[in-house]
Amino acid sequence: KDFRNNVKPNWCPGCGDFSVQVAIQRAAANIGLEPDDLTVVSGIGCSGRISGYINSYGFHGVHGRVLPIAQGVKMGNRDLTVIAAGGDGDGFAIGMGHTIHAIRRNIDLTYIVMDNQIYGLTKGQTSPRSDVGFKTKSTPKGSIEPNLSIMEMALTAGASFVAQSFSTDLKELISIIEQGIQHKGFSFINVFSPCVTYNKVNTYDWFKENLVDLNEIEKYDTENRIMAMKTVMENNGLVKGLIYQDKQKPSYQELAYGYSEIPLNHFKLKLKEDKFNELMAEFI
Ligand code: SF4
Repeated sequence: KDFRNNVKPNWCPGCGDFSVQVAIQRAAANIGLEPDDLTVVSGIGCSGRISGYINSYGFHGVHGRVLPIAQGVKMGNRDLTVIAAGGDGDGFAIGMGHTIHAIRRNIDLTYIVMDNQIYGLTKGQTSPRSDVGFKTKSTPKGSIEPNLSIMEMALTAGASFVAQSFSTDLKELISIIEQGIQHKGFSFINVFSPCVTYNKVNTYDWFKENLVDLNEIEKYDTENRIMAMKTVMENNGLVKGLIYQDKQKPSYQELAYGYSEIPLNHFKLKLKEDKFNELMAEFI
């Protein structure tokens, strides 16, 4: 159950993504998965490299298309545990359409966003998660667009599992990823994962000062969607912990006609050899 491989990450020293990688590896081991039970699908961005740093099946996809690929993998082989991973630019800009519809579709997989509120790989431009006034090379006078309220979006789209964490809180992050994997449906986990090279505002210290721990809110009820929405709004989205979980909501697989009887990976390919060769010739 060793999910480490011998590939050395080339993230900058201190990047928040290191902790997310370790948390995924430990969570998978803690719940008893074997490396060939797990597929990690990633997008484009610094965080997208993560699929190459974990000893499991991996698929480094294209920009903003983490979720179509991850959903296809899960629908094709329901025996796999599927984790989709990417950054805030990947998931909330070019990939936003997929994010919203994957949330409402509720296919049983876990989506982890490494949210650093900036585009790191392209050397520091504003992302949909940057705050108003945030100065970068692309916004030298400060961003004039509001920060996208991602937790409100997820709750509004009908998410069955919504959580937020911080990359230095490794114990909590591992626990949340374990809960997300075990959740029967789509689990959406946003992780504040600071970019130490380009984001000098939303730093580790900034998050420590500003994040509100839901475990410290008296009588916070993770099954109460209205309370979840109210708490997120009152705190400007800066909360951490399990925000909301609906354990009763059926997953897409439970509702999809015929899925349970005939998973795609059990289909036998009935393609005659000459037809197969003809099809392949088109790609050579
Ligand atoms: Fe991490 Fe930022 Fe470096 Fe990318 S540029 S590896 S996000 S610290």
